[in-house]
Amino acid sequence: MRFNKELLSKFPAILMHWNKHQNTRKMPWKGEKDPYKIWLSEIMLQQTRVDQGVKYFERFIFHFPNIHQLAAAKDEEIYKLWEGLGYYSRCRNLIETARFISKKLNGKFPDTYESILELKGVGHYTASAIASFAYNLPHAVVDGNVFRVLSRVFGIRKPIDSADGKQLFSRLAVELLDKKQPGRYNQALMDFGAVICKPFPLCNICGFKDHCFAFNNDLVSQLPVKEKKIKIATRYFNYLIIEYNNKIYISKRAGNDIWRSLHEFVLIETVNETGAKDIIAKAEKEKVLKKDSYKILSVSPVYIQQLSHQKIIGRFIKIASKKQLGLPGFKLISLKQLSLHAFPRLITAYFERGHS
Ligand code: SF4
Repeated sequence: MRFNKELLSKFPAILMHWNKHQNTRKMPWKGEKDPYKIWLSEIMLQQTRVDQGVKYFERFIFHFPNIHQLAAAKDEEIYKLWEGLGYYSRCRNLIETARFISKKLNGKFPDTYESILELKGVGHYTASAIASFAYNLPHAVVDGNVFRVLSRVFGIRKPIDSADGKQLFSRLAVELLDKKQPGRYNQALMDFGAVICKPFPLCNICGFKDHCFAFNNDLVSQLPVKEKKIKIATRYFNYLIIEYNNKIYISKRAGNDIWRSLHEFVLIETVNETGAKDIIAKAEKEKVLKKDSYKILSVSPVYIQQLSHQKIIGRFIKIASKKQLGLPGFKLISLKQLSLHAFPRLITAYFERGHS
C-alpha cells in the first residue's frame, strides 16, 4: 500500500503542533525520564482508562518510590494496591520484574530496547515507550491508539489484528517517527489517540481534519477494521460467604484461570443461572456444608463483571455455620482482616454496596 507522500511529511509536524498547544491535564509521568516510573505507568495503563490509571500510579509511587522498595514489598501488599485495576497477570509480572532488576541487576534498569524487551511482561509497545521516553532511542510505539489514529488519517482498511495489518502499521509508524525526538513524538501520538482521536473522536477540533481520510470520506466509525470478533464466555460464580465464630472462610485463587493470586469465598460455579436453593443443595452434595448445621442469612442480587473475554455473573449467599468446616485451601479470617486481602472487582463491588 502506498501512502500519500504529502501527508507522510506533514503528519509529525501537525501532531507536534497539537501536542504543544494542548490543554489536557498533565499526566504525572509526562516528560518523565526515570525508566522505573515509565515502566510502572505503562504496565498500569495497559487496558486501563488514563484517569483510572493515574490514581493507581500515584499510589504505587507513594508506597514504592523506587524499584528496590517495590521488590522488597510483600506480594499481598502489592496486590492490595493493584486491587480493582484488573488483568492481574500484569501485577504478577510486575512483581517478578521488580525483583529481577533489584536483585540481579542491582536496581539498574536495562537501557537498550532489546534488554528492556526481555523483561517479563514487557512487549514491543512497552519496550518502545521506555526506550524512547527514558533514553530517547528511536523506537516507534504501536498500540491500539496508534492503530486507530493511523488507520483513520491514512485510510487503512487492513485489519489491525491480522499479521499483514500489524506489519503495515508498524512500517508506517516507523516511517512517521520523529527520529530526533522519538520520546516526545511517541508521547504526543499516544496522547492524541487518547484525547482526540478516541473511539468516539473529537473531529471538529482536530488538526488533521483537512487531511484525514476517514473524516473526509465518512469512514470514521468504520476504522480501524478488526478481523476477528471476540467470543465472550458467560460464567456463573455463586459465592458462599460462610461465617463461623465471627470469622469468614477465604482462599487464594490458583491455577491458570482468571484472578490468580486474588482471594475469594467458597465458589460454586455453574453453567447456568442457578437458584440459591439448588446452590445450597450442591454445596451439601459436595460436602462443603453439613446438613442441619448452618443457616442462610441472605442472598444477594446478581452482580456482573465484564472482562475482555468473559462475562462473570455472580451471586453471594451468606451463611452462618454452627460447626467449623474442614475446607481444604481455606482459612478463617475476621471481618477486620478482610481489608488486608486483595479480592476481584466482583467481590469488592459486593462489599461496597454495604454487604459484608
Ligand atoms: S479528523 Fe477525526 S478521525 Fe481524523 S484524525 Fe482527527 S479525530 Fe481522528
